Amino acid sequence: MNAQATPSDTLDVQRVRADFPLLARTVHGKPLVYFDNANTSQKPRQVIEAVDRHYREHNANVSRAVHLLGEEATAAYEGARDALARFIHAPSRNELVLTSGTTQSANLVAYSFALPRLKPGDAILTTTMEHHANIVPWQIVAARAGATVKAAPITESGELIVEKFVELLTPEVKLACVGHVSNVLGTVNPVRELAKECRRRGIPLFVDGSQAVPHRPVDVQALGCDFYALTGHKMLAPTGTGALWARKEHLDAMPPFFGGGEMIREVKFSGTSFAEPPHRFEAGTPNIAGFAGVSAAIDYYEALGFDAVRAHERALLDHATARLREIPGLRIFGEAKEKEPVISFLVEGAQATDLATLLDIEGVAVRSGHHCAHPLMQFYGVAATLRASLAFYNTHEEVDAFVAALLKARALLR
Ligand code: PMP
Repeated sequence: MNAQATPSDTLDVQRVRADFPLLARTVHGKPLVYFDNANTSQKPRQVIEAVDRHYREHNANVSRAVHLLGEEATAAYEGARDALARFIHAPSRNELVLTSGTTQSANLVAYSFALPRLKPGDAILTTTMEHHANIVPWQIVAARAGATVKAAPITESGELIVEKFVELLTPEVKLACVGHVSNVLGTVNPVRELAKECRRRGIPLFVDGSQAVPHRPVDVQALGCDFYALTGHKMLAPTGTGALWARKEHLDAMPPFFGGGEMIREVKFSGTSFAEPPHRFEAGTPNIAGFAGVSAAIDYYEALGFDAVRAHERALLDHATARLREIPGLRIFGEAKEKEPVISFLVEGAQATDLATLLDIEGVAVRSGHHCAHPLMQFYGVAATLRASLAFYNTHEEVDAFVAALLKARALLR
């Protein structure tokens, strides 16, 4: 892919694949079929080269140096803030806090926004389908404040019951939280509608966008939420990168969560004053090289265009779903009308881990386990599922190879 290429609605998958060095490797002597993209995506050479270039040519710390390298490193780091603001249509770059990922973003909101507002008897509302990162931080701060965490229910097919979510938006709810896209079910939640209901009641809405940003264009202003968290490593960028977008009025009112260098105005033993947001929330040395990679990842998505990404991923999801449905005894978890390319499933008579191990021997990487979503597993009454999660660089042939490997594995386990 040439970063200057004009986006179109068709994707030249073979050209795209040539940008991802890791996709060319073999696993146990078989061509790799990487279907664990919801866990972490692979990285194009443009991202790898941006990180490499940073360390070879620009490495220095941010903001603390007046020398040229320091300026270049700062420009790379602050450039990622600009790119992220553009990517999710934030009204201002100053509303983007750079973090290590969604987990840190959620914890920042939990400790700095929720905790000071919670009183005994208050509640935080989340949903049954959330990742632990969108449950546990709320539980920790709720417990400290004598508050509780409630979960909105879902249907058997893995869709949020919107009326119930709205019913649960009672006056004691001080924050509502929802995943934009479920990492287990692929379900796309109606964030815009939920945000409208929350606004009407004056309840801020936190959205976990980890699994949305790799697949669809996001416009936080159109969504109408209050907070939007994302993680870089699921969207082609290096691990240890992420962001929290929050409305200015919230950031202005939030005390710092981490203290240290870079987040202060003046430090005295009689009292310290803090920097304005977003720097107030960015104590210490960040993952500068990683953020150089974030900018390259966003450039890559922008060059491809989400129309092309979505059309290809939709075709892959339809093909994979149809092929899996042909397998007797295979149950798919998550059949929402609007889904991203994530398929969780179980095969009658076979343990998820055994199947995943046998698939690995065939070169197919899928995840088996609870996917950091214990409450969702409890809802379905299962301990684990297998999850095939696809990306725009996957192919129909890989789906067929995965299905063939699955049939072979199942036969071995009978
Ligand atoms: N939320 C969702 C929906 C996720 O899929 C993940 C990653 N599995 C996270 C949050 C946590 O992201 P990170 O570990 O990058 O902070």
